[in-house]
Amino acid sequence: MTRDSKHDIENDIRHWVRPEIRALSAYHVPDPGDCIKLDAMENPYRWPDDLVNAWLERLRAAPLNRYPDPSARRLQSRLREAMHVPQDMAVLLGNGSDELIQMIVQTVAAPGRVILAPEPTFVMYRIIAQVFGLNFAGVPLTDDFALNVDAMLEAIDVHQPAVVFLSYPNNPTGNLFDAAAVRRIIAEAPGLVVVDEAYAAFAADSFMGALGEYPNLLVLRTVSKMGLAGLRLGMLAGPAAWLNEIDKTRLPYNINVLTQLSAEFALEHRDVLAAQTAQIRVDRTLLLAALQSLPGVTVYPSEANFILFRTPSGQATPIFTALRERRILIKNLSHAGGALADCLRVTVGAPAENAAFLEALRAVL
Ligand code: PMP
Repeated sequence: MTRDSKHDIENDIRHWVRPEIRALSAYHVPDPGDCIKLDAMENPYRWPDDLVNAWLERLRAAPLNRYPDPSARRLQSRLREAMHVPQDMAVLLGNGSDELIQMIVQTVAAPGRVILAPEPTFVMYRIIAQVFGLNFAGVPLTDDFALNVDAMLEAIDVHQPAVVFLSYPNNPTGNLFDAAAVRRIIAEAPGLVVVDEAYAAFAADSFMGALGEYPNLLVLRTVSKMGLAGLRLGMLAGPAAWLNEIDKTRLPYNINVLTQLSAEFALEHRDVLAAQTAQIRVDRTLLLAALQSLPGVTVYPSEANFILFRTPSGQATPIFTALRERRILIKNLSHAGGALADCLRVTVGAPAENAAFLEALRAVL
């Protein structure tokens, strides 16, 4: 950089970077170091050695010199089957379901438009809306984290949102919303309703079967929580007419060769993943009961692979920090304030990890 450059970086940034981007902070992922990692809703289990070997054998043939199949047809058909997508619905794949959320918002983005979701919920709905210059309307959940249907319908009436996002089950609260309330919202919304089923593997209900009943309903899935977070692969299902429009925002070859081959392989062996997620559901029940027995802790029911709990007033950050000092990393949500003040979220890990977490928590409470 020359000294007499006409550029002053701070001035340039103030001039060129949109104010809504400057106001954001980048999505922060803490370095886990050597902690037991119970912060990100990952499946704690690896594959057995023989399966790893068979997978590596499959990758041997990966044509890294070629671009991947642009629409990942073989993988699409495996996903449709594994996720029970109705025959007459289309699917679209993303580099994680995050990318699909981004593509949906990008498709409808125009100044003054609104993206709406209940809150607290998955923060990327708000962040992506803001990145694309849309307004975000958050409608508070009730005290027990249920949908406030009247408030949702009123906000839909006032804001006429382009998209309503409903995380089902909801992150970070863990509960499934009342299905009849979700249906009322889908019926009343003027634009799209995206039911985000990232935690479907752990939940007792799904809107996948309702696709086609409503022209404005899309269902979002991911393979991340069922045990393939490293691959970055999400799937959007819904009417072809909508997905064809959203597909126009997709960058070419967004699903790389290694992800396509690996996910196809994993879905051929999805009994292994299903056994792991079944184990996690069993351990969720045990962890929930153990947390409930702790004095001063309020535990919220979960249909996902994580549990939200409320600590005594003002204690969430000290408890989070003390756990971290004992090499247990969970998620501190108390900074979000409001309904999440004093709240922490723990991912259900392997039995030994859950036991280590509980032992540390008992020691620091
Ligand atoms: N939706 C919800 C509700 C989530 O909680 C997450 C991840 N935390 C995602 C989508 C994104 O998942 P991915 O990009 O890994 O598919």
